[in-house]
Amino acid sequence: MPDMTATRAEPMHVETDVLIIGSGGAGMYAAIEAARAGCSVFLVERSLIGRGGATVMAQMTVAVALGSQTPDHWSFHYNDTLEAGRGLCDERLAHVLCEDGPARIREMDDWGIGWARKGGRIAQAFAPGHDRPRCVYVDFLNTGPAVSKTLRGVVTRAKAIRKAGDLLVVDLVCAGDDVVGAVAWHIPTGAPVTIAAKATVVAAGGLTRLYRRNSASANMGGDGYALALRAGAPLVDMEFVQFFPIGHLAPRLIGMDPIMWDPFRYKLGGRLLNSAGEEFTARYGVSEDGRYVITRDLATYAIAKEVEAGRGSPHGGAYLSFQHCSQAELRAAFGPVIDRLARNDIDLTRMPVEVAPMAHYHMGGVIADERMATELPGLLVAGEAVGGANGANRLSGNAITEALVFGARAGKSAAERAKRMPAQAFRPQAARPALDLVAARADGKDINTAAMIQRLQATMADEVGPFRTEARLAHALATIDDMTCALGERPAGDNAAFDLRRLEWFDLRNMLMVARTVAMSALKRRESRGAHQREDFPGMLPDWRVNQVARLGAEGVTLAAVPAVTPAAAQ
Ligand SMILES: Cc1cc2nc3c(=O)[nH]c(=O)nc-3n(C[C@H](O)[C@H](O)[C@H](O)COP(=O)(O)OP(=O)(O)OC[C@H]3O[C@@H](n4cnc5c(N)ncnc54)[C@H](O)[C@@H]3O)c2cc1C
Repeated sequence: MPDMTATRAEPMHVETDVLIIGSGGAGMYAAIEAARAGCSVFLVERSLIGRGGATVMAQMTVAVALGSQTPDHWSFHYNDTLEAGRGLCDERLAHVLCEDGPARIREMDDWGIGWARKGGRIAQAFAPGHDRPRCVYVDFLNTGPAVSKTLRGVVTRAKAIRKAGDLLVVDLVCAGDDVVGAVAWHIPTGAPVTIAAKATVVAAGGLTRLYRRNSASANMGGDGYALALRAGAPLVDMEFVQFFPIGHLAPRLIGMDPIMWDPFRYKLGGRLLNSAGEEFTARYGVSEDGRYVITRDLATYAIAKEVEAGRGSPHGGAYLSFQHCSQAELRAAFGPVIDRLARNDIDLTRMPVEVAPMAHYHMGGVIADERMATELPGLLVAGEAVGGANGANRLSGNAITEALVFGARAGKSAAERAKRMPAQAFRPQAARPALDLVAARADGKDINTAAMIQRLQATMADEVGPFRTEARLAHALATIDDMTCALGERPAGDNAAFDLRRLEWFDLRNMLMVARTVAMSALKRRESRGAHQREDFPGMLPDWRVNQVARLGAEGVTLAAVPAVTPAAAQ
């Protein structure tokens, strides 16, 4: 890692062929691929390398048409992805995701990830929305950590990759339309850092921290979307936030992941019940009968409607019961996890748990082509930061595949661009506004940044959640605008070491901008589709088979509707 002890007056300056922002699955794969192509790489991360975002938290499965146990072909995976996406997938990206998936999974296997095997073949589990068993895993509660650890190992062995953790990228730097690097803020010292790059990959993950109940880490406040938007790159499908239907609600669960019930359902079925003890999903069109076949958007809808009808569980969700399973079956499937549940006074043979939807993944993001190139020369994007591949709803397991596949493609394309560039185009004066922001003194206004984050999360959950109305969305937009004014133009805090107020100010700057694009897009889409449900406009309308593109201009963020991207439309 480069020395970050430069003085405040003189920013430390780093030069690299390829800059990669974010070290989740997408960023690390991009770094590996760019280094393999012969480029120098600088991999920067606001948290610890390989441990800051969603990849390391993912617990379950990775969808890929390997056909190792049941015959499969990428086109079947593609068809399922398009169906789940409710007519809005960017079909070029969905194609890439499904076609390249098997190669990435095999490469991870070669790198020693240890995919679970049955009879010597890589095991593939069934997951809702897939037409056959298609999801590989390491162990049902350990897949993401294993993905992250494997990639960290390869990154560490690659001499051409320099890494820097605790480095928050504040803004991209442009020369005309070209992205030529970034300005970052070193959190432990407050030092500014400028980075000149011939190509830059934004792999900064999703936005679910915008919501009160979420499965995210604190680093998932939508930085990547905000960085791209401010640099001039458009975003797409920002209204489509996926809610994970069965996040843990009650009783209190300490030291365990709130979305851990999904692997239980994969293996053991698990009955979703209302307060009367009835399985209710058939009322909303999907008869589960103890199996796990319902997609996430429909399950979220079904639980919310039962609660609304007064048939919810005491804490405002649904019951999830495994009481049909014996202690022996539970132990055979989840061994030590059963002991951890016991330490939380949960005995699944005797009691159901309560579950409810929580924000989990974002289908929208930065517009990219098959090479992961954005509209801005020099700017590529990878992983959850990319918009469109999953349309209005994502299939289980597609997100890690997306991170690996899009990461590899972005790294390759970044290297190609870097090799074509004769010299760095970075000019210090272009970095000046961002450097001034990093070093600015607070304007003396006493704002409580932590309370503002909580208020934004509450607004998003209550007014821009899974079920939306015009009145609630308009109210959310007004709140977001008030909060943006209150935040002001100069960062809070004194820029001392580990200045959390300044960090929260930078986070809010991005979170408010991204929240605005989500709320605006949701207000404009006057229909219900996939993860976007308008109570005042129920039902999917053919005229709305369009993607909404958000751009930042002099008049703020504006939206335009464009026909969904099919391969024919793309030619
Ligand atoms: C709890 C949980 C379980 C999941 N389970 C599954 C599953 O089983 N299967 C599946 O397919 N998907 C799953 N997902 C989704 C999937 O994990 C993610 O979509 C995917 O890992 C995203 O990878 P990524 O590399 O794009 O982003 P991330 O892994 O989120 O990495 C982004 C990185 O960028 C860093 N960063 C952000 N902003 C900045 C900045 N300004 N400067 C520097 N660095 C920055 C972050 O700290 C982070 O480390 C799960 C998600 C969660 C939260």
